[in-house]
Amino acid sequence: MSGRQSAALPLVGRDGWIEGVTRVESPNHDGRPDGVPISLIVIHSISLPPGQFGGKAVLDLFTNRLDPEAHPYFVGICNLRVSAHFLIARDGSLIQLVSCLERAWHAGVSSWNGQARCNDFSLGIEVEGCDDTPFDDRQYASLSGLIDALRRSYPIRAIVGHSDVAPGRKTDPGPRFDWQRLGAFGLLPGNVRDRPAPCPIAAEPGEG
Ligand SMILES: [Zn+2]
Repeated sequence: MSGRQSAALPLVGRDGWIEGVTRVESPNHDGRPDGVPISLIVIHSISLPPGQFGGKAVLDLFTNRLDPEAHPYFVGICNLRVSAHFLIARDGSLIQLVSCLERAWHAGVSSWNGQARCNDFSLGIEVEGCDDTPFDDRQYASLSGLIDALRRSYPIRAIVGHSDVAPGRKTDPGPRFDWQRLGAFGLLPGNVRDRPAPCPIAAEPGEG
């Protein structure tokens, strides 16, 4: 799975998948509302068990195969139905789980720029990591390439963290995520800092 991200990624295909990227399909998605452009990228971080890297638990969670007996922490989350469009592992490996045309279940109760239900109009990228460990250089390289491909494919207006669209409720990608590394895209950090207040809305399907 490694190495692929060093070359420029192709545009997202008409089916919403990026050719050449490893696929591990998640069933946790449904249709986007009609006529809503894909305009936002939401960056998340996750590690399972928390603080441990490199295992298969994250993919197991996103494919509803997490074994609750494998770790005490998994008991409380194994029934969640969550996903993201992409996962970037510590070594920079990129995996696509959900077609970009579909609505992945990553942001949960959220809003951006006065628009609630960010899952409707966003792409979710999970970066394997946690709050107290720096992310890997290979992850930034992979993420930058992915964002470039997504921006060439869709009218992306901003790139934000989960904590920006669900403030007070979510903290990922966390304090060790270096937004300045993405600053070359010209969308950061202004859009992050200028985020509007969240809308009070009802709960919606799961999140990562
Ligand atoms: Zn998140």
